[in-house]
Amino acid sequence: MNQMNNRQKVEDMKHPESQYEEKMIKDIFFTQLSDMIFIMKVEKGANFRYIFANEKGLEYANLRQEDMGKLLSEVLSDEKVKHLSRYYKKVIQTMDTVVYTDEIENKKGEKRIFESTLNGIRNENDVITYIVSLTRDVTFAAFEKKQLIESKEIYQSLIIHNLDAIFSINEKGRILNANPASQKMFGLSENELLHRSIYDFVDKKSVSEIYEVMTHTLLDGPKETTDCTFIGKDDRKINVQLKTVPIVVNGKIVGIYIIMRDLTEQCENNEKMNFMEMHDHLTGLWNRRALIEHLQTEIVNSKIKKREFALLYMDIDRFKYFNDTLGHQAGDDLLKQTAERLGSIKKTNYRVYRLGGDEFVILLPEHEKKEVNRFSQYILALFNIPFIINGQDYYVTPSIGISLFPADGQDSETLIKNADGALLQVKEKGKGHFRFYRPDMNDAFPNYILMEAHLRKAIELNEFVMHYQPQVNLQTGNVTTFEALLRWQNRKFGNVPPSQFIPLAEETGLIIPIGEWVIQNVCAQLAEWRRKGHNDIRIAVNISPKQFFQINLPDVIQNALKRNELPPSALEIEITEGAMEDTRAALSMLHRLKELGIIISVDDFGTGYSSLNYLKRFPIDILKIDQSFVREIQVNEKDAAITKTIIHLAHNLGMEVIAEGVEEKDQVQFLVSAQCQKAQGYYFSRPVSAEEIEKKVFYG
Ligand code: C2E
Ligand code: MG
Ligand code: MG
Repeated sequence: MNQMNNRQKVEDMKHPESQYEEKMIKDIFFTQLSDMIFIMKVEKGANFRYIFANEKGLEYANLRQEDMGKLLSEVLSDEKVKHLSRYYKKVIQTMDTVVYTDEIENKKGEKRIFESTLNGIRNENDVITYIVSLTRDVTFAAFEKKQLIESKEIYQSLIIHNLDAIFSINEKGRILNANPASQKMFGLSENELLHRSIYDFVDKKSVSEIYEVMTHTLLDGPKETTDCTFIGKDDRKINVQLKTVPIVVNGKIVGIYIIMRDLTEQCENNEKMNFMEMHDHLTGLWNRRALIEHLQTEIVNSKIKKREFALLYMDIDRFKYFNDTLGHQAGDDLLKQTAERLGSIKKTNYRVYRLGGDEFVILLPEHEKKEVNRFSQYILALFNIPFIINGQDYYVTPSIGISLFPADGQDSETLIKNADGALLQVKEKGKGHFRFYRPDMNDAFPNYILMEAHLRKAIELNEFVMHYQPQVNLQTGNVTTFEALLRWQNRKFGNVPPSQFIPLAEETGLIIPIGEWVIQNVCAQLAEWRRKGHNDIRIAVNISPKQFFQINLPDVIQNALKRNELPPSALEIEITEGAMEDTRAALSMLHRLKELGIIISVDDFGTGYSSLNYLKRFPIDILKIDQSFVREIQVNEKDAAITKTIIHLAHNLGMEVIAEGVEEKDQVQFLVSAQCQKAQGYYFSRPVSAEEIEKKVFYG
């Protein structure tokens, strides 16, 4: 059957209606159909013969009407024949529809893409005898498809290769997609993430934040937040910066993209930086900067809530000596141990700061004086136990000044200044205790620069005078020994207490001439009293640490003794424990002094770095129990025990004991029963002038 026959047949149908239909079909097939139709006859030897091609088919395949009835090989190039035969043969082999695409250049030189669908038509023996090819220009569709694939790839590479974790979730929070970065960030496989709720991976504290972000995204669009924590594998916390983008399909939001950046390391670094900025390296306590910040917030909050709080300013007594004599390592050790102890008080919400050196501050959200008092007692008690440094026991005491908000200051600067002022007062009044700030304290702060200028001229201007405090023999009631205590009467500052000008003299080196003046003056006094017949009198002179290490100290003393024709046994020197920390230097000086024949006592015993070790080795005659022990002998069991022990120990080592600061009868009784030899204190007499001693003691 060929096309000519076909036409003939159609024309043979004379019926007008069928003639019209035939024309219409012809029209559609031949001219209107934009697809190409080819019908091929299958001939022996896998030859294919053109039977029919519609107009579009003829045009695109570059065929003429006359080519119908010819074999493929007669019409097309070898290459094309080979190409087409492959598909036609496939139809015969598979007995199935075969689809293939072709790129064909049209007459205008445009490359078009065609998709051909081949179908076999079988005869009664089920053998394919005809093949119908329906070929369609799919250039546009292919282009669209290609674009779709491309854009899908672009989108996918954006997601797959993104270093940020990207999840897509549905409106309910189910994870639909999790990119490789998200799997890496969470340490979980795709399977472990997919179909789970995103909230399964949100840290408790961030749930409400994330919920808000999600809700916002579904309603208003993209949102961003920096402070969220997610939970990854093994409960690892992941700090992320998070962005959300709604997934919009056909104008409707169907889900959300969640884009996360891991900020954990950055956060940790920030935290570390923050920690370092706000903390003291040595002790790990908060530092001055933290104090100022905290104090400012505390003040604001306290104002709003009408609360009060206390600021305790503390330092370690004689820390400088400790540091200078034992070395910085030991000093650091002491500070660290102090920090630990300060942090160990069983009371919540107080905060400890180290401002530098041995200065500590405690913020206590407490206003009742009684409570602050109690807290300060706790702190003092923390120091009752010795500090073990380099395997040795050391006793140190703290001094504390306290200011209260808002009574003693409305701003941090004033509060700190006033607490520090109160601390200075503690230092002046004998250390080792605490004191609340009082406004009249301000008057007590001298101008040290001006004071130094006056101190330099004090000897010249005859402003110094010695006072004497009797030391009473507790068995006999006799007084044969006195402690010489320096008094400075200045025209500008009035009566300046030694606790103020002695440290200043130490610092400026003025203590050397002043100390020599004292020795000379005391010796002169002794000589005078001897002339008056008081031959068995002995006077103790205080020697400050700086003075103690003056190489010529023994010479100064010897000269003074000689000049006044005194036996060395008439003179005693008092040295503090602090001066003896450098044991080797102390030992050699003590031996030189001892060789002169003078008496040596240890002043303020028990408050310094009491190493009982040196007692055995040093040529010491007398221990003076510090007044801080004596003060509480009656109420504080520990002080009583320490005092008894010191007395006992001194006796065993063949030393005499003098108790200082005795003010009450009870204390005397205690000391008598503890077999303390001597006592000095206001109970018996204040330090008084030489004339008064003569009146009261010698002739009283
Ligand atoms: P210190 O050597 O421990 O002297 C004892 C201090 O306690 C004296 O204070 C004395 O007046 C005081 N005192 C005596 N009995 C009592 C009492 O019952 N209760 C109380 N609360 N205090 C009592 P002062 O005279 O103010 O001297 C203070 C410190 O200044 C002395 O402590 C001593 O370390 C130093 N100092 C005084 N004079 C000299 C001196 O000539 N040279 C040197 N280097 N230091 C001196
Ligand atoms: Mg003394
Ligand atoms: Mg003393």
